Amino acid sequence: MRISLARIRLELAHTFRIARSADQYRESVIVRLEDGGLDGLGEAAPSPRYGQSAESAERALASLDAAALEPAEQIEDVLGRAAALLKGEKAALAAVDMALHDLLGKRLGSPLYAVLGLDPGKTPVTSYTIGIDAPEIIADKIAEAEDFPVLKVKMGLDNDREIMETVRRLTDRRVRIDANEGWTREEALEKALWLETQNVELIEQPLPAADLEGARWLAARTSIPIFADESVHVASDIPRLAGIYRGINIKLMKCGGIHEALRMIHAARERGMEIMLGCMIESSIGITAAAQLSPLVDYADLDGNILIGNDPASGVKAREGKLALPDGPGLGVTIVESRLSKSLKRARA
Ligand code: MG
Repeated sequence: MRISLARIRLELAHTFRIARSADQYRESVIVRLEDGGLDGLGEAAPSPRYGQSAESAERALASLDAAALEPAEQIEDVLGRAAALLKGEKAALAAVDMALHDLLGKRLGSPLYAVLGLDPGKTPVTSYTIGIDAPEIIADKIAEAEDFPVLKVKMGLDNDREIMETVRRLTDRRVRIDANEGWTREEALEKALWLETQNVELIEQPLPAADLEGARWLAARTSIPIFADESVHVASDIPRLAGIYRGINIKLMKCGGIHEALRMIHAARERGMEIMLGCMIESSIGITAAAQLSPLVDYADLDGNILIGNDPASGVKAREGKLALPDGPGLGVTIVESRLSKSLKRARA
């Protein structure tokens, strides 16, 4: 087994502004595991919201001894060891998890969705995210998103109403709102009641992650389903959210990869909760890994690769929004040689 890492800068086509941050680019760490003549690819796209960065993810991954990841086919045990060694660096763990699943599928000569027994025809449509911006930029983004039947509109600053009015002047498409913890309880209720008149499908994380009582209070007062994102990371978070949030947004970068995401899907389903699969700003490596699970979920927000201009990989496609899984073995991702292969040279034996 050899581990190679490459840090890459993903350039955003537009500044990506949400309630707590604005970025022109984000950094990912790409992991390649070479084992038995096969390559497994994974990606860490760490979020500062969870105290992680490309530096911290890269440092954690560089400290991994390849021997700890062997035998690569014993994913359950290997991930247990990797989780202990990576010490809470969930995006780094997700990268290792994806690469192990990629190797597994390649070893079996089968796409990961088939290894998992899933029907690739059951993928949902992904929403296209509209960050917080001035009306003219929002109009440009809506034009760029013309192939997508669902929009995810970011809110949580002082121009929420202007944003929604701009969106509705231009399109009657379904809209999901994501406030990224940006509202107070009273503000959230006032906005939710207005948004009920605006053909809004759901509201994601209106209140700070820790305010579960606030989420319960709000959910009892609006007909719009309320979803958890920042409030939910791993399967063990789910029991206390059931009965409060209608659904959860699962992200590989929060939970540590496909293995934990599957546990979350089952834990949420047992409790009758709806499920969205979401993402950070990621390349087609991380997005395709998440998309392999998408036949199991109700909603997808897997557009991180579409928002960047220099995707170093190719994998899942969105056809009129519907996720079309690649049919290659494993994740089915191919890397764009000119953008990635040269950087993936810092190999560790
Ligand atoms: Mg969110």
